[in-house]
Amino acid sequence: MSKLATTLRQPQQLVDEGLAPSAALPELEKVAARYAVALTPHVVSLIDPSNPNDPIALQYVPSAKELESESHERADPIGDAARSPVEGIVHRYPDRVLFKLVHVCAVYCRFCFRREMVGPGKDSALSAEVYAKALGYIREHSEIWEVILTGGDPLMLSPRRMAEVMSDLAAIPHVKIIRIHTRVPVADPARVNEEMVAAFRVSGATTWVALHANHARELTDDARAACARLVDAGIPMVSQSVLLRGVNDNPAALEALMRAFVECRIKPYYLHHGDLAPGTQHLRTTIEEGQQLMRTIRGRLSGLCQPDYVLDIPGGFGKSPIGPGYLSHDRDERAESRYRIVDYCGDVHLYPPKS
Ligand code: SF4
Repeated sequence: MSKLATTLRQPQQLVDEGLAPSAALPELEKVAARYAVALTPHVVSLIDPSNPNDPIALQYVPSAKELESESHERADPIGDAARSPVEGIVHRYPDRVLFKLVHVCAVYCRFCFRREMVGPGKDSALSAEVYAKALGYIREHSEIWEVILTGGDPLMLSPRRMAEVMSDLAAIPHVKIIRIHTRVPVADPARVNEEMVAAFRVSGATTWVALHANHARELTDDARAACARLVDAGIPMVSQSVLLRGVNDNPAALEALMRAFVECRIKPYYLHHGDLAPGTQHLRTTIEEGQQLMRTIRGRLSGLCQPDYVLDIPGGFGKSPIGPGYLSHDRDERAESRYRIVDYCGDVHLYPPKS
């Protein structure tokens, strides 16, 4: 498919491009009226329209299944609102805050945990007054060591505005780390240009970039080049992925994704269990399936390729690791306690407690 000139935002455009059947149009219109839709030309060029289970299409092309919600799903699945002392800030853990600068993204993911908060109908960026208040909050809380720029996608800001935000934050003496969460390097790699990379480099704080990608095919040559521009500029990168049914819920897909990250000098960081966002049930796996996948990749991949499998506890209580356990206690017939430790092949060994 030749590359399109514009981002697709309407179900009719998806039908015209062969990404959805025309019979689905009425239901897709209902989905699009509730949740934002956007596929950049770069993302569209990755989709194989002849494959109804294409792992890129499943992430971005809306489905009528999004109209079905289950009772546990909620509009704010990770409880941002419960931990927001001022607009734009989420202060969940003592030493770090989320700073939600924008409410728009380059693409809209069908499983988004903030799908009720992001999209073109929402305020695109914080007003000057709200921004100043949020910055004031960070300034007044000396325990804040790390600020995580998120949204929406902070790379929707212009490089000029990004540079202003970065220098405002770096000027706060206790802010040592600025972490930028983004999907742009894989959704619209050309946006990571020299000006944007220069905006990330500030004196007074260290910048990290966390890339969100869920399938190895998202790491195209252009996306790899965008990441290389960041890493070559001295900006360390980590990854974030969501475990998604049909996209990466098999060992080969997960293995290829983690290897691709490491090849791009991106350390695999988090594999998120799917959040309870409304209308996303069809994309979630069970926790047991996630644990089995983690066991499998532990046995097959270098330690460099291992992410932490985590669950954001609904209600705003933060993330907890939910990967499989490898250590347990064993008692022999004389009631002596020992450890049981499982190796990467699944074999069990005993290990003595410290005497
Ligand atoms: S890029 Fe992030 S915030 Fe934006 S739609 Fe995707 S998951 Fe949601």
